[in-house]
Amino acid sequence: MHRHQHTTRLLIIDDDLLVRTLAAEALQSAGFDVMQAADGRTGLTLLEQHHPALVLLDVMMPGMNGFDVCQAMRGDPRHARIPVIMLTGLDDTSSIQQSYEAGATDFITKPINATLLNYRVQYALRASRMIDEIDRQRASLANAQRIARLGNWTWRPKDARFECSAEYQRITGMAQPAPVHHWQDILRNVHPGDAERVAQAMQSALEQGEACAVAYRLLGRDGIERTIYEQIDPFRDEQGEIYRIEGTTQDITDRVATEERIRHLVDYDGLTGMANRRLFSEAVQLGLNQSARGNAKSAVLDINIDRFKRINETLGHAAGDQVLKEVARRIKGSVRARDIAGSIDETAQSRLSARMSSDGFAVFLTDVRRAEDAAMIARRLIDAIARPLPCGEHELTLSACVGVAVYPDNGDSVGTLLKNAETAMRQAKTIGPGSHSFFTPSMNTQSLARLQLENDLRGAIARNELVLFYQARVDVPTGRLVGAEALVRWQHPVRGLVPPNEFIPMAEESGLITPLTEWVVRAACRQLQAWQQANLPVVPLSVNLSARSFHESGLRDLIQLALSEFGVAPSLLEGEITESVLMQDVSVAITRLHELREVGLELAIDDFGTGYSSLAYLKRFPLNVLKIDRAFVRDILTDTHDSAIASTIITLGKTMGLTVVAEGMETVEQANHLLSLGCRLMQGYLFARPVPAAAFADMLRDGIAAPAGLDIQHVESGVALPAPDCFALAPAAGHQQRPLAGVAAAGRLS
Ligand code: C2E
Ligand code: MG
Ligand code: MG
Repeated sequence: MHRHQHTTRLLIIDDDLLVRTLAAEALQSAGFDVMQAADGRTGLTLLEQHHPALVLLDVMMPGMNGFDVCQAMRGDPRHARIPVIMLTGLDDTSSIQQSYEAGATDFITKPINATLLNYRVQYALRASRMIDEIDRQRASLANAQRIARLGNWTWRPKDARFECSAEYQRITGMAQPAPVHHWQDILRNVHPGDAERVAQAMQSALEQGEACAVAYRLLGRDGIERTIYEQIDPFRDEQGEIYRIEGTTQDITDRVATEERIRHLVDYDGLTGMANRRLFSEAVQLGLNQSARGNAKSAVLDINIDRFKRINETLGHAAGDQVLKEVARRIKGSVRARDIAGSIDETAQSRLSARMSSDGFAVFLTDVRRAEDAAMIARRLIDAIARPLPCGEHELTLSACVGVAVYPDNGDSVGTLLKNAETAMRQAKTIGPGSHSFFTPSMNTQSLARLQLENDLRGAIARNELVLFYQARVDVPTGRLVGAEALVRWQHPVRGLVPPNEFIPMAEESGLITPLTEWVVRAACRQLQAWQQANLPVVPLSVNLSARSFHESGLRDLIQLALSEFGVAPSLLEGEITESVLMQDVSVAITRLHELREVGLELAIDDFGTGYSSLAYLKRFPLNVLKIDRAFVRDILTDTHDSAIASTIITLGKTMGLTVVAEGMETVEQANHLLSLGCRLMQGYLFARPVPAAAFADMLRDGIAAPAGLDIQHVESGVALPAPDCFALAPAAGHQQRPLAGVAAAGRLS
């Protein structure tokens, strides 16, 4: 019966033998394999046994009619999709209607036209195959979507209809689609941190018709956070209105995690978890860019464990690995401690130290203000590595050498800096285990000396090695000693008396200035108390407040505490702040100055003329005294420019009601010139050098020897002082002014 293997099998169910035979004949000659059944029951049995591709079914049959058979077929999932062509009478429209209701695919009227029948069957089969194909594709799409974790949904804004695929529900962790009344309901499980971004994307799709893609985190119903990639596509109808939004939702959680893992493998050292050379170089490049923008220094440190090979050789590689891990941990710890206050986040931080070779590490330091900072970290790293290290039942003591290359001094590219740091490290190795070295030799000596000094200074305050010297401030026309500036010195056990210019800047940079200023303020107050107790006619003392101290909020409390502890009147203390410090941050300066004024301090602006203050600012500072920088005094006789500036400052001071003091007065000619410009208060070697407390006590008691040749005629009286009383020699309690000894004797004042 089979003509060939791929013959399509059909089943004809009809009680009319003639119709059956004719139809079978026609279809067989068209190449089909045709079975016949004379009644419904037999038909269903054959159907069961042979699974024909199509059924021709007569409507009118005794027993089971065609509708019953069709219905029975549709009710059985195995036969539900077999196309059924009903054979009806020519004008039997009600049968046609009924046929469709019973689930028939098509109908053909009797008497049967053979050619037509053949075509009808072909069409029905083709349609059926297409439906099968679509079903198959849909199934495989769903399968592919499941495998790709790709879900999709549709939102129709007009009738607020939301549909989604099973995979979408799985991704979002929904047991069944949650009701969606508004498009925002679709986003209800989006991570709060991403919600706004996703909402914006949706809105622009809905309103502007813009397709877009967003990645975001989704909090599934199951409580698991997933990473989602969502493609949002709007569709417009013929009127151009957006009637449908389609979302393609992909769960990329695993992919992101895998990518992260791969990236980690590519960028980090497997043993220590530190950044590798590649990632480190990248991080250094970023750091250098930043340094360049901020005009800051940075440094690359090359760290190499001394004789590491021996550990591997004697204890084995497993022990070697353990040692390296521990060294890495210590390096990370040492660097982290430094930047604890910095704003660098954990990941960025992790890239600033790296494993560079089997026994080599590197560290990148940002914000290196001085080469010494880098040296300090190098020492810290060396010390950290040198701590005893347990290794199995042994305890090892390692050492490491560190080479330092500073940007921009030793190179401005990553490659050069790495190379130079390594050269410096090799240099350190020649010095000996546990050494560090800079790439530039001069940096070694400089930093060593400064490091030493800094270390010494740390102890200097505790060891009481600081001393205050006092330099007189004189009201020249009256010859009175009207004040003194307290100037710190460091009595170094080896170097002798160190001038402040050699350690104040360092104290500023290292933060030691805070305890130093405290020491100076307290020493000045203690001294005032001692002089008062010795019944000496004390004069106000001015102390220098450095930039950092001045900007610290604790300054006021510190001064107040010292004043009350030593029972000193606030009017006996004056604060000197250099002009440049005031100009660094004007609003903070104003606040601080007011704080100090509230305490009762007099305030002087030091080194005036060098800091380019504008008059507008000067007016806002609550100041009492203006000190002309000694740079102007030095050349005042030869440099008309300097003279003009000094003159202007004096006039300015007068108009603003400030006391003007000229610093650095060394010669009588300078003094006379300033007197002629109207400045009567002076400080300088001409009158007195800074002297220790005992020598200054003598000045308080006896006055100062007046230099010969002072010409005080020009000076208008009453500029800054009450009417001169140059002969009032009697010492009294409180702060009284003393005349210059010998001035009266010189007989030039009247
Ligand atoms: P300064 O506040 O401008 O102090 C005046 C400096 O000029 C003092 O130097 C003083 O000895 C020097 N000087 C005074 N008269 C003459 C003179 O006729 N000719 C010359 N060539 N120099 C004269 P010193 O004591 O070396 O202090 C230098 C700077 O160190 C001070 O400048 C001040 O800024 C700072 N300084 C001194 N003591 C302290 C302190 O206790 N704390 C702080 N923060 N800074 C201080
Ligand atoms: Mg000063
Ligand atoms: Mg000065």
